[in-house]
Amino acid sequence: MHRLILRRARVEHAAAPCDVLITDGVVRTVGTVPDAEPGRSIDCAGRIVLPGFVEPHLHLDKALLDGVRPNPDGTLAGAIAVTGELKRAFTHADVRDRSRTVLETAIRNGTTLIRAHPDVDPVAGLLGVEVLLELREEYRQLVDLQIVAFPQEGVFRSPGTEKLLTAALAAGADVVGGCPYNEDSLADSHRHVELVLDLAAAHGLPADLHADFADDASDPRYALAEFIAEQTVRRGLSGRVTLGHATSLAGRPPADRARALTALAEAGVAVVPLPATDLHLGGRHDTTATRRGIAPVRELWDAGVLVSCSSNNIRNAFTPYGSADALDTALLLAQTGHLSGPADLSRVLRMITYDAARVTGADGDYGVRPGARADLVVLDSTTYDDIVLDRPDRAYVIKAGRVVARTTRTTELLHP
Ligand SMILES: [Zn+2]
Repeated sequence: MHRLILRRARVEHAAAPCDVLITDGVVRTVGTVPDAEPGRSIDCAGRIVLPGFVEPHLHLDKALLDGVRPNPDGTLAGAIAVTGELKRAFTHADVRDRSRTVLETAIRNGTTLIRAHPDVDPVAGLLGVEVLLELREEYRQLVDLQIVAFPQEGVFRSPGTEKLLTAALAAGADVVGGCPYNEDSLADSHRHVELVLDLAAAHGLPADLHADFADDASDPRYALAEFIAEQTVRRGLSGRVTLGHATSLAGRPPADRARALTALAEAGVAVVPLPATDLHLGGRHDTTATRRGIAPVRELWDAGVLVSCSSNNIRNAFTPYGSADALDTALLLAQTGHLSGPADLSRVLRMITYDAARVTGADGDYGVRPGARADLVVLDSTTYDDIVLDRPDRAYVIKAGRVVARTTRTTELLHP
């Protein structure tokens, strides 16, 4: 039996430290563990332990390409065009090495579950899915990897994609992806949504669509929230559909926006803002008061929509920044979403923990409580309210009860 004891650990926002006993990958006790209890013991010295971070939206296969070729004009269209060209030269080893680098960085940063969105289209074929299926096995003891079959180039605009999506699911992809804005007409965008949700329903899988990713909703291909909500309910997929980006929601008039948010809430459709990408690609044609390009987080909360956030891309034409650190994303979202103070920041922290676990369907045994799987992160901090602001070092990352990453750092002020 594998045993690990966290001593003097401050569990989330608890006032006083306690002990956490883990056996065989499961949290058994949160409270007092006798000194004589056998097993490896880590003295947390009052530091905070949280459940591991969850990245519900990360593109591993096309990460780390910013040095190869940048985005020519900073727009979404430019990013899709450049990356589409670079994809033609992808090799198995190249995709594997770049994916591995980001995967390992995310683990060191305290992430214990990643939902990855590899491109599936006639150019990339199933390369991204195949590489991630291999990495899922290789890293099984360090991180959980969900694989989304993601038709970045559209389905009807890119003939052959529908068959590849089915093949990706047969190969072991866990989630049906979508990109309905990348079609030539609103009718095709609607057919795209229907096809994705039909596949999800037929295979008993969740769906995760890139949707409504524009500064405003003037082009109806970027204003599909209500349509997706309606189609979700029609197929009985409530609670199993997620929309990434959804930036155009913020650009709709208040009454219209309220209707869209109500439809999403009632349909149980989650939204995942991707602030680094949304800010970078948004507002490119604005000449005054450049728009922020962020989904309206507080209004989504108030409407009862499940909201998480994630890194999306790491250093490529879509997002030439990023460190695969969920806390960086959380702070960026707080800074750009008018979110501040202990109540807001606690909720932002939930977006990369409990709410992200719900988005990925991994919330059943998530948390720091008896019976939860022991996917945990010990932060080098004793102040819960400062976590998002300080982004403290991840002193220990624990996956299934085993320490899989450790950070020690010493910085000294040398007074003359
Ligand atoms: Zn994405």
